[in-house]
Amino acid sequence: MTQDIRAQLGLRPVINVSGTMTSLGASIVVPEAVDAVTRVLSQFVEMGELHRRASETIVDLTGAEAGFVTASCSAAISLAVAAAITGNNLWAIEQLPDTGELKNEVLIQTGHMVSYGAPVEQAIRIAGGKVVPVGQATSAYAYQLAGAITERTVAAVFVVSHHVVDYAQIPLKTFAEICHARGVKVIVDAASEYDLRKFLLDGADVVLYSGHKFLGGPTSGICAGEKEFVRNIYLQNRGIGRGMKIGKEGIAGVIAALEAWKVRDHDGIRAREQKALDLWLETLTGRTGVTATIVPDPTDNPLDRLKVAIDPELARITAWDLASALARGDRPVIVRDHEAEHGHFFLDPCNLHPDEESIVAERLLEELERAQRSNEVIFTPLNERWLAQEAAILKWLD
Ligand SMILES: *Cc1c(COP(=O)(O)O)cnc(C)c1O
Repeated sequence: MTQDIRAQLGLRPVINVSGTMTSLGASIVVPEAVDAVTRVLSQFVEMGELHRRASETIVDLTGAEAGFVTASCSAAISLAVAAAITGNNLWAIEQLPDTGELKNEVLIQTGHMVSYGAPVEQAIRIAGGKVVPVGQATSAYAYQLAGAITERTVAAVFVVSHHVVDYAQIPLKTFAEICHARGVKVIVDAASEYDLRKFLLDGADVVLYSGHKFLGGPTSGICAGEKEFVRNIYLQNRGIGRGMKIGKEGIAGVIAALEAWKVRDHDGIRAREQKALDLWLETLTGRTGVTATIVPDPTDNPLDRLKVAIDPELARITAWDLASALARGDRPVIVRDHEAEHGHFFLDPCNLHPDEESIVAERLLEELERAQRSNEVIFTPLNERWLAQEAAILKWLD
């Protein structure tokens, strides 16, 4: 590895066991993509041709008719909605987000209206889409989807993610059949899903992925789908897509990351991840107030995580305070704590550099032992924690 730039920039050497998080710099970019990015940066290219070349690679991996690379998956949602609204009308593309007389209603199941750091429905609105929620937070039915389609409906967004409500939602196949029967385009946000083919087979007109998550590419979004639709997404670069454009380095990096994905040693990587999980499990087993279990990914991606449940009375610290303690100091370990109020967090082994798993184990012991020595149970009321998180972002730079 070349010299760690973080010290030079005055940044803490964070260890990421939370997953591919934008707030931590997403993922470790694979060496093939690093090389491609470096080599293209100083060259001129014909961008339309580079995009066409990326399309070929995307087609190869997804089985789609065509592909396109944009700034991020969030950008891809906006551009796909824009494409559904404008088609190939260059005038309409320049008018967005004003849609004039064009159809602009976009359906989404209420249980899919998640935040991935920003609201998915805002990604629809910035393209001029009018969000039409289907069903309730806790359920959506086929008749509700069919009933919500009007003569102004252009598209429907379907989100695949651990963030969405994971019961009583309309399955993609049914969702797509109902939409297609009425000429409505189906846009699938599969940002973090490893399966590059399934959603197209289940009826997506276009499926969208993040290039910088499991694929280990530079920050980017990948669109794969029906040719005319993908071309109309590409055309958005003459409109709202300009502010969401990807550079030559991003495209070359994504091509390399996709090629590397084809030949990646998935079994070897899983074995390495398993070794980290086993080490942490062994470290935590028998610790007072700690219950550790290996759990599968909720959307069936081929990866496991360690669930660390904390009994605050016995461990003398809450799950969320332990997460915060691990994140402090000069060996910060960032755990997956999005549901810490349930009394647990997760350790995700997908983004580790060699030997970092041992530092994670040491830090867990260090903080658990510190808590054992504490006179009082370390317990920050949850509402205080949430308000402090809100306040912190408003104080950025101070
Ligand atoms: C991460 C994520 C996004 C956003 O992806 P970016 O490429 O970071 O913009 C969108 N949808 C879901 C479900 C995600 O997990």
